[in-house]
Amino acid sequence: MADLQGKTVLITAAGQGIGRASALAFAEAGCTVHATDINEQALAELPKRDNLTVERLDVLDEAAVKASVARIGSVDILFNCAGVVHGGSILEMKDSDLDFAMDLNVKAMIRTIRAVLPGMIERKDGAIINMSSVASSIKGVPNRFAYGVSKAAVIGLTKAVAADYVGHNIRCNAICPGTVESPSLQDRLRAQGDYEAARAAFIARQPIGRLGRPEEIADLAVHLAGATYTTGQAIAIDGGWTI
Ligand code: NAD
Repeated sequence: MADLQGKTVLITAAGQGIGRASALAFAEAGCTVHATDINEQALAELPKRDNLTVERLDVLDEAAVKASVARIGSVDILFNCAGVVHGGSILEMKDSDLDFAMDLNVKAMIRTIRAVLPGMIERKDGAIINMSSVASSIKGVPNRFAYGVSKAAVIGLTKAVAADYVGHNIRCNAICPGTVESPSLQDRLRAQGDYEAARAAFIARQPIGRLGRPEEIADLAVHLAGATYTTGQAIAIDGGWTI
């Protein structure tokens, strides 16, 4: 595995959950971390590290993405973690939900990748990690139509970027978690009414008998950043959900 010491990392949605854990894991690995999110308060609550800076960045805003990458200079590792979960089947979903899911879960990645690629091509080095889900082209999950469509698109865009830029020594991989403890997961469980029953049902889906921890997903992000012979892959990390 490549030494990540001194590599510059840009992480989106680093204020909480998997993105937050990943910002800390990359800092621990010796990277210079730019942790970004729209939630400035969450960013302010990240533990202080000399090699970790925080910045408000709305990944829906193309100009802001370009400006942020220009300020950073060269991004060696991009972790696209921002995403949103909508409930509902194809008949229940609102078109506006699908549009928003595609904008935040898919097009935001296209914005950030476009912004960092020219520098990566120039340096002939780069690692891009995109957050997908097992609820995608890997597995159909009930009540997750817009989400599954958008996260399947993430796998497609990951493979397309990997294919186009493998000759430039730029790798692009996707992470596909099962259910992971995070603030938004807590919101989804509470929204179902009976929190304990909803939590038990989510745990029952993972044969390993528990939910994932953000730190476990962060470990995989760090691994993929340094996995110099791995590209175009969608890696499931799901407690056995897709065995
Ligand atoms: P979360 O959903 O609790 O937090 C999401 C973060 O994204 C928040 O800090 C929020 O402020 C930020 N955000 C929202 N809109 C943004 C924008 N426009 N620009 C920048 N940041 C924005 O975190 P999580 O549950 O760890 O999810 C992180 C990613 O992992 C998402 O892409 C999600 O789809 C994916 N994922 C999560 C799970 C899970 O069970 N938690 C499973 C599979 C995949």
